[in-house]
Amino acid sequence: MNVHPNLTLSHRSRLSPFLRIKPLLRLPRVHVQQLSLAAAAFLVLVYNFSFWRTFFAATGGAQLANVPLYIAAFILLALTFNAFLTLFSFRYVIKPVLIVLFFVSAFSSYFMNRYGIAIDASMMQNVIETDVREATELLNWNMVLTVTLLGVLPSLLVCRLKLEFPTWRRALLLNPAVIVVSLLVAGMLVMVFFKTLAPAVREYRQMRFLLTPTNVIQAGNSYVKHKLARATVIAPLGSDAMKGTLWAGQKRRTVTILVVGETARAMNFSLNGYQRDTNPRLSREAGLLNFSQVQSCGTATAISVPCVFSGFDRVDYSEEKAKAQEGLLDVLSHAGLQVLWRDNNSGCKGVCDRVAYEDMSQPKAGDPFCNDEECYDERMLQGLPEIIRNAKRDLVIVLHQKGSHGPAYWKRYPAAFQRFGPVCTSNELEKCSRESIVAAYDNTIAYTDYFLSKTIDLLRAAGAADNVDTAFMYFSDHGESLGEKNMYLHGAPYFISPEEQRHVPFMLWLDEGYRDRFSLDQRCLEARRGQEFSHDNVFHSFLGMLNISTAVYNPQLDIFHACTLANQS
Ligand SMILES: [Zn+2]
Repeated sequence: MNVHPNLTLSHRSRLSPFLRIKPLLRLPRVHVQQLSLAAAAFLVLVYNFSFWRTFFAATGGAQLANVPLYIAAFILLALTFNAFLTLFSFRYVIKPVLIVLFFVSAFSSYFMNRYGIAIDASMMQNVIETDVREATELLNWNMVLTVTLLGVLPSLLVCRLKLEFPTWRRALLLNPAVIVVSLLVAGMLVMVFFKTLAPAVREYRQMRFLLTPTNVIQAGNSYVKHKLARATVIAPLGSDAMKGTLWAGQKRRTVTILVVGETARAMNFSLNGYQRDTNPRLSREAGLLNFSQVQSCGTATAISVPCVFSGFDRVDYSEEKAKAQEGLLDVLSHAGLQVLWRDNNSGCKGVCDRVAYEDMSQPKAGDPFCNDEECYDERMLQGLPEIIRNAKRDLVIVLHQKGSHGPAYWKRYPAAFQRFGPVCTSNELEKCSRESIVAAYDNTIAYTDYFLSKTIDLLRAAGAADNVDTAFMYFSDHGESLGEKNMYLHGAPYFISPEEQRHVPFMLWLDEGYRDRFSLDQRCLEARRGQEFSHDNVFHSFLGMLNISTAVYNPQLDIFHACTLANQS
């Protein structure tokens, strides 16, 4: 081919600037695993200004002494993200995934910084269901700049990267190994910094809505779930329930109070052998039955409370199943009892949806049992004598305590109840000695001791004044870690949860009229106090104790069954 030499030359010279730039953009080949780790670190560091700002605040303000903590938090988040990205570390998959994540994170980061918002399911709903006009109002040059810098540029870079991939066979070994090692190291870092991280995460719950892109993924996921969920049809439970034969010839009404405790662990009750006298009143309560070996259904309120009332045992329990079916309080209603739930906690988690409910947790000016922020558990006894006196039917009253909820244990009891000290008065547990944390916690148990014995006093008085038979049951929803194995608070996955989070107090007190009515043998019950029971027993024991006849009652799980005189002969 004949080409004019001049033309070739000039053609070349015109292209030359481009040719000179090109080598600069030629990026080195990288292994997909290197890309995944680098992208994870990049995401954690660059898009998460709001998260880190809150994290610094949650751990006592940015300070030099906390640098090891910050580095650990960065590494543990980067490794966790890396484990997630490794799930997608395949040819044709990783690049699109990263590009989507860069854009999503860029937008999310922009909105969080610009508007100080957190991204949760309801925010996601706002975004998705917003109209075009509203959306265009949000568009501005700042956003374009952010999305260009944090979305477009990193995406272009990733596009141009030449990646090396392991063979499929190698990937099948390598990827799971990377995931396991990443999560193991992350888990170890959590354990090392647990005392600081646990209260920070608990007190600053909104932090998880600031960590991008996981907040967007979570919010999107729950939005979709919510959209797909059909309105739950609640299946009736125990519609056949009625008062059993022992109710025949009833002359006196019954009043049963069930106290659902919060974060009280059995081992800090002197009734269970604790060296500090945390039960000065209950230990002198005549006829009180303290069961010392009771295990909870979960290690968090949101699991234990629905589980206990659900009629499912721990192994069978799931949130979905419990939500789709009535529970213990409905069975009692079917049997004709009047049920009232009084709450000084954060609600009843759905178990009291079809019975009377009173929220007693909102402080009211002038209420002797409230301060500006919250109310003490005693407030739930206000007006109860009148309610008992005026009720027309047999009553079951549930009192849901704030109890020993942490990490601000010192806020859970009035100043006069500070028996042990000095106490930790900081949410940042790392600022306190273990002894001062335990002292504050023990004061909450001593206050619960007072509250429970006042409840029994109230029942005793009602029994005398209003001609009613009364009974009392108390258990806690779960326990608490107070520094054992370097763990604090609760909520550990059940299968690895420490005993401190699962071993809960359980008590009964029955007045004489009640025992006679339901032919309950106090001595027999006393003999069972050291046996092993669990939350699984509550549903059936409650029905057994009140002699409710229904097909859903399982006598084998009823603590009272063997101690009912009729069954003994
Ligand atoms: Zn709880």
